[in-house]
Amino acid sequence: WFPATEYKIVVVGLDNAGKTTTLYKLHLGEVVTTHPTVGSNVEELVYKNIRFEVELVYLVVQRTSIRSIPSLCETGLAWFTPLLLHQILNLFNLTDLPIPYNQSGILVDKIGSGHGATYYRGTHAVIVVIDSTDRARISIMKDEIFKLLPHEDLQNAVVLIFANKQDLKDAMTPAEITDALSLHSIKNHDWHIQACCALTGEGLYDGLGWIAQRVT
Ligand code: GDP
Repeated sequence: WFPATEYKIVVVGLDNAGKTTTLYKLHLGEVVTTHPTVGSNVEELVYKNIRFEVELVYLVVQRTSIRSIPSLCETGLAWFTPLLLHQILNLFNLTDLPIPYNQSGILVDKIGSGHGATYYRGTHAVIVVIDSTDRARISIMKDEIFKLLPHEDLQNAVVLIFANKQDLKDAMTPAEITDALSLHSIKNHDWHIQACCALTGEGLYDGLGWIAQRVT
């Protein structure tokens, strides 16, 4: 048995949760390299000499959320694909189904069939970013988390929940989010909820530190 030389983190969450802001803010810390490829959805972080490969996954749920895709993606194609797909889904009244995309707008799942087969392979940690003010969609995230965790490639992954946007006064507290997401029902994964504000970076390294401590 050899320790891994790099640890894979998958960041999931609904649009607008703060995934991109979180990753960018972590980059301002001890990051050494990024992959400059346009449309890349993988970034490398180094924290306390531990290398993390971090990949973003967007869970696109509501029709209105499609509008935010262009600002999140760097290529035209990146937002065209989910838009087109979503319009097709709309024809069949399926728009309430969460559709996971990576940052390039590539569908990472078959619609309605759980989460992508190869996407999570080798994942050491899942970061779930929650917009703590988004009370309307917290139950969607709960369902998503409980669909995601049984995935065979995530059996050994630890789960960090970022209760983001704690700077906003209507933010749910970590305790409220713990209840709303039924985190205490998670039995087969080590989990932790961390209050944070991705805009200022507060809490982010505490969360990453928790992951580092659990996976190394
Ligand atoms: P993503 O869709 O999950 O990647 O979300 P983004 O990182 O693009 O963030 C969505 C919006 O929320 C942006 O306008 C961010 O500036 C804002 N945002 C992200 N984190 C915070 C936070 O901690 N506090 C506040 N007030 N806004 C945030």
